[in-house]
Amino acid sequence: MNVLVINAGSSSLKYQLLNVDTREVYAKGNCERIGIEDAFIGHEEMGGEKQKLVVDLPNHKVAAQHVFEILSKLDVKIDGIGHRVVQGAWRFPESKVVTDETLGWVREVAPLAPLHNYAEADVIDECRERMPEVGNVVVADSSFHLQIPEYAHRYALPRDVVDRLHIRKYGAHGTSHRYIWRMTDAFTKHETHKLVSCHLGSGASLCAIQDGRDMDTTMGLTPLDGLIMGTRCGSIDPAIVCYLERNGYTNDEVDDMMNKQSGLLAVSGISSDTRDIEAGAADGDANCQLALDMFAYRATYLVAAMAQAMQGFDTIAFSAGIGENSPETRSSICKRLEWLGVKVDEEKNKVRSGEVRDITGEGSKVRVLVVPTDEEYMIALDVQELLG
Ligand code: AMP
Repeated sequence: MNVLVINAGSSSLKYQLLNVDTREVYAKGNCERIGIEDAFIGHEEMGGEKQKLVVDLPNHKVAAQHVFEILSKLDVKIDGIGHRVVQGAWRFPESKVVTDETLGWVREVAPLAPLHNYAEADVIDECRERMPEVGNVVVADSSFHLQIPEYAHRYALPRDVVDRLHIRKYGAHGTSHRYIWRMTDAFTKHETHKLVSCHLGSGASLCAIQDGRDMDTTMGLTPLDGLIMGTRCGSIDPAIVCYLERNGYTNDEVDDMMNKQSGLLAVSGISSDTRDIEAGAADGDANCQLALDMFAYRATYLVAAMAQAMQGFDTIAFSAGIGENSPETRSSICKRLEWLGVKVDEEKNKVRSGEVRDITGEGSKVRVLVVPTDEEYMIALDVQELLG
């Protein structure tokens, strides 16, 4: 079955056309700077060079039209379309086939993720108009986290407020964590029961997964909570927001500061990219070293919290851009967790590979894995299950 996976962000639209059975990727790309000047599409086909197509992308609907135009030149029949939706809220406890009703739900919960859900709904509209004979599936990033028990997902705010405004921990990266569980379970031949899944990319979150059930995660109502990220501050004292606003910052300025000007970028003072920060630290830059230490410290602080959600853990899995590619970060995190019985094999840790791999050190009480994530494949699997 050939599935087109679409992941519409606030100003981007990523796409991938793949065969679910063989995992062959026929084409993939990203429409960037949607609604901004200098928009372009980075497009790549199997065995081909990456191309940059300069086009006008005033909105997501037009971006989707370009994607269909590009893909129509390939000789590949699209059998189903999977849409990553950031916020499914209470409406999507699992992936759902798109109907007028389920598409209405994507818009109904959009106030919780206005920069994403409206654009995603517009793209779904375009796909249904363009290819009415092909089914669409919504795969919400928040679905997996709806399993989290109430004592862990509820905020201790007044009941009428949380009910009226649908405030709770929704989390994000759910599709990635679900995939990491699936791969870990297969790799360890069902020996993993309590997994701390670490999705460490430019956005980062942890998830406690016990026998496939999501017990807790580090992101909250929005993806701002939890770990320190590339440009996001993660958890801070919420009173800081009020303090900043009383000191003259507008609500939008605080929002922008916390999401785009904070995190590793703010602490290192040079970059949001771990590669630059690791190079800076190696050159003796104290701010870069502090950024790396803060990232690892917060990660382990929250690993312990995830372990508590399961009364222990037997496996920790590292994934996404940093988790898969930075042996230094994995080592720094594991060393800080030695008191909990985690040991990493430093030689195995250095090996680079795109495969799931075991980097557990001798005498470790916890299995340490690197599990490359693949959200697109996970979405395509859901499409196959619902439409195949
Ligand atoms: P993602 O959001 O999963 O695509 O991750 C992107 C982030 O991964 C980048 O911003 C980098 O900080 C990080 N990253 C990618 N490659 C490496 C690497 N070789 N070493 C350290 N960090 C990396």
